[in-house]
Amino acid sequence: ELEKRITDLESRQQQYPEVTFLSYKDRRRILVTGGAGFVGSHLVDRLMLAGHEVIVADNFFTGRKRNIEHWIGHENFELINHDIVNPLYIEVDQIYHLASPASPPHYMYNPVKTIKVNSIGTINMLGLARRVRARLLFASTSEVYGDPEVHPQKETYFGNVNPFGPRSCYDESKRVAEAMCYAYAQQEGISIRIARIFNTYGPRMHMNDGRVVSNFILQALQNEPITIYGSGKQTRSFQYVNDLVDGLIALMNSNYSMPMNIGNPDEYTIEQFAFKIRNLVGSQASIVYKDPVVDDPKQRRPDITLAQTWLNWSPKISLNDGLNRTIAYFRNELLVRHHSERN
Ligand code: NAD
Ligand code: UDP
Ligand code: UDP
Repeated sequence: ELEKRITDLESRQQQYPEVTFLSYKDRRRILVTGGAGFVGSHLVDRLMLAGHEVIVADNFFTGRKRNIEHWIGHENFELINHDIVNPLYIEVDQIYHLASPASPPHYMYNPVKTIKVNSIGTINMLGLARRVRARLLFASTSEVYGDPEVHPQKETYFGNVNPFGPRSCYDESKRVAEAMCYAYAQQEGISIRIARIFNTYGPRMHMNDGRVVSNFILQALQNEPITIYGSGKQTRSFQYVNDLVDGLIALMNSNYSMPMNIGNPDEYTIEQFAFKIRNLVGSQASIVYKDPVVDDPKQRRPDITLAQTWLNWSPKISLNDGLNRTIAYFRNELLVRHHSERN
């Protein structure tokens, strides 16, 4: 039995030289909430390839079975159709807690539910962590900095968040979730990790999630006007999803238990970004200016000194590379959609 496992490990290692494989004793039972979503499904791929047992809990609000269906039937994989606002009783060693709508149109669609997911849902996952003594990594966000007056954003900045506005259901519930992680760590001795994730893009982003990367690429591919909200002078810094997954795994397995930024400091105005995407797609699409978004942060860029120092992590994939891969993904998605409409 042991010999077979060692051979399995060696053959997997040969098949995927870029992945580090674990011996049986290092294998963990890992829960990924929101594992059928964009980020979660890439994380699941990496954990599965590394030989862990992975359990996904997802209610498919924005996630899709298609993102993880290649693992269904694998002996190390389990999918639970579960809304984390309800308690969950399972046995695990680690929890990556990602369940939450993430794009502004999605989290504003049902703001009350967004608050419940991040507050009640996070309490439930902390309660689970407490019962089974698991470590929990919470997917927080750069939105905890609100419309930042400090630039770039360091983890020590407390943020400038409007508690009463269209974004507050997300920003404030992510902030209270961080506070809950802190309280459970102090009071109950739970081991927690907090990743403040900055804007992330890549394959498997939802077609209709309304985020800037998916909107601009889809508009450019279909020669529809590229919609800039406001002046386009607001900035964002975009990280490719594989870099984020590296950072999340490194943070989970590190000794660092305070909030940590995970993002790519490469910063662009939204206007520059529109031109860049149009060029990469080779599109003739026009560029139009729409009304500004309420409470839209004017600038955003992570200071990643902490991640570089503690995790020896920094993003590796350039914006051009990452965008080309993402454009290829959306081009294919449009083809698939086109075919299924015709048949
Ligand atoms: P996503 O919408 O693709 O994935 C979220 C997943 O959570 C989906 O599969 C959805 O079905 C699931 N979910 C939502 N509510 C749930 C509930 N009540 N119970 C169970 N599952 C539920 O979004 P994403 O981009 O993959 O984001 C993942 C996490 O990372 C989120 O917590 C988000 O706030 C955080 N984050 C993402 C970004 C980004 O740029 N993508 C930036 C900052 C933070
Ligand atoms: N919980 C859960 N799974 C568990 C343990 C707890 O979902 O394995 C939920 C439970 O619904 C509870 C919440 O987590 O309301 C917080 O649990 P905790 O033990 O911290 O507090 P309790 O409210 O049970 O005193
Ligand atoms: N944005 C835009 N056009 C779009 C979608 C978004 O100009 O079609 C802008 C939006 O106003 C914001 C930035 O792009 O300034 C990033 O928006 P996104 O929703 O992707 O993420 P956010 O960082 O705001 O959560």
